[in-house]
Amino acid sequence: MDDCIFCKIINGDIPSSKVYEDDDVLAFLDISQTTPGHTLLIPKEHVRNILNMSAETASKTFARLPKLARAVQKATNATAMNIVNNNEELAGQTVFHAHIHLVPRYSKNDGISIKYTVHDPDFEHLAQLADNIKKEVSE
Ligand code: 5GP
Ligand code: ZN
Repeated sequence: MDDCIFCKIINGDIPSSKVYEDDDVLAFLDISQTTPGHTLLIPKEHVRNILNMSAETASKTFARLPKLARAVQKATNATAMNIVNNNEELAGQTVFHAHIHLVPRYSKNDGISIKYTVHDPDFEHLAQLADNIKKEVSE
């Protein structure tokens, strides 16, 4: 896609620090380096995000994730890692070519924070939500 910065990286039109490449995916260092070794894994197919992704592209992309994650961890000596994916602007997506962040973790002060608010469970509501999702998944 002409207008996409990650397609330009794939095509070599703009430079990047590549760490892995094959026919289906590319991994390169995120320019922001939230922590040292912050890496992005992307499918070569231009797809907006996971909400638009085919099972075939997902299986190719996610299949590369464990090996890449271990390589990043080994190379950086990180003790932990956040693997994060943002879908659409409200969720923090700023580049609209699907990508998975691998953020090596070194300490609690790494400059990344993901906080899940915990609500008291409303079991009736949970059952209704689960039902709605079940129906959509089986479509
Ligand atoms: P998002 O916010 O969409 O989940 O993540 C997009 C990421 O792409 C950001 O972390 C940002 O630093 C990174 N990024 C944006 N432009 C470039 C670029 O030109 N090169 C590289 N290597 N990373 C980029
Ligand atoms: Zn693209």
